[in-house]
Amino acid sequence: MAVLLDGKTMAAQLTEGLKKRVEALKEKGVTPGLAVILVGEDPASQVYVRNKGKACDELGMYSETIRLPQETKQEELEALIEKLNRDDRIHGILVQLPLPKALNEAAALRRIIPEKDVDGFHIENAGKLFTGQTGVVACTPKGILHMLKAANVPLSGKEAVVIGRSNIVGKPVAMLLLNENCTVTICHSRTADLASHTRRADILIAAVGKPRFVTADMVKPGAAVVDVGINRVDGKVVGDVDFEAVEKVAGYISPVPGGVGKMTIGMLMENTVEAAERKAK
Ligand code: NDP
Repeated sequence: MAVLLDGKTMAAQLTEGLKKRVEALKEKGVTPGLAVILVGEDPASQVYVRNKGKACDELGMYSETIRLPQETKQEELEALIEKLNRDDRIHGILVQLPLPKALNEAAALRRIIPEKDVDGFHIENAGKLFTGQTGVVACTPKGILHMLKAANVPLSGKEAVVIGRSNIVGKPVAMLLLNENCTVTICHSRTADLASHTRRADILIAAVGKPRFVTADMVKPGAAVVDVGINRVDGKVVGDVDFEAVEKVAGYISPVPGGVGKMTIGMLMENTVEAAERKAK
C-alpha cells in the first residue's frame, strides 16, 4: 500500500512555520497583506477566494477581497491592479482565474508588479523559473515539489512524467523537477501511447482535469503519484487518478481532496510572507 502524501498534515506544518515568520514581521511593524481580485460569480472561484481569506486570517495576515461585477472593463481591472501595486499594506496581489471571457487575462497578469505577483504567473517570474533565476514560483507546482521533498521521495536522476502542459501547472512543475535533476517527460493530449511514458515514471504528476484518468495499469510499481486534478463528479470532488486502484501499485500517492489543493493555499501564504520579508529588508 502506498505512503499517503498527506497535504492536510503537511500544510498544517507549513502553517506553524509561517505563523512564526508573520509574528517576526509584525514585530518589525510589517503585517503581510494579500489582495484577491474576483471578477464575476464563478461558484468554484468564490470558494477558492473564501479559503484564501480564511488562510490569511489563520496566520494573522491582512487580506482584502475585491469583488468586481462580471461586466467589469479591462481598464477598470488594470486600474485597480495599479492602485494595489502602489498600496504599501499589500505585499501580494492575486487575480482569481478564470476571468470572464471578455477580459484579457495575460494583460491583467502583466500589470501586477513581479514583486507582488504571489501566484508566480507574471511573465518575468515564469521566465526566471525557466532560466534558473530566483523569482516567485507558482503555488501549485511549488506545493507539489514541497510534498515530494517532505516525504523524502528521491528526485535526482529519476524519471519524472508530467501529464499536462498548462502554464500554471504542467510546464512549471516540469521545470521544477528538471531543476531537481529529474529526467522529465511532458505529455499532453497529442501524446502517442501515453501509458508507455507513464509506466516509466518514478514520479508521475497528473494535471489533466479528467476524473480517474490515471489507472493502475499506467503506473510503475513503487512510483510517487501526485494527483493535481480537481473534478466534480455527482457533487463529489475527485482527482485525475483512480486512487483506490493506484494506491495498491504506487509507492506514494496524494489524495483528492486533502492533497495538492491544501499545499497550493499554503504556498500562496508562503509567497505572500516571502514578499513581505523582501519588502521589510
Ligand atoms: P488545463 O486544462 O489547462 O490543462 C490540461 C492538460 O491536460 C493539457 O495540457 C491537455 O493537453 C492535457 N490533456 C487533456 N486530455 C489529455 C489526454 N487525453 N491525454 C493526455 N493529456 C491530456 O488544466 P490545468 O493545468 O489548469 O489543470 C489541470 C487540473 O488540475 C484541473 O483538474 C484543475 O482543476 C486542477 N488544478 C488544481 C489545482 C490545485 O490546487 N489542486 C490548481 C490548478 C489546477 P493539451 O495541452 O494538448 O490540450
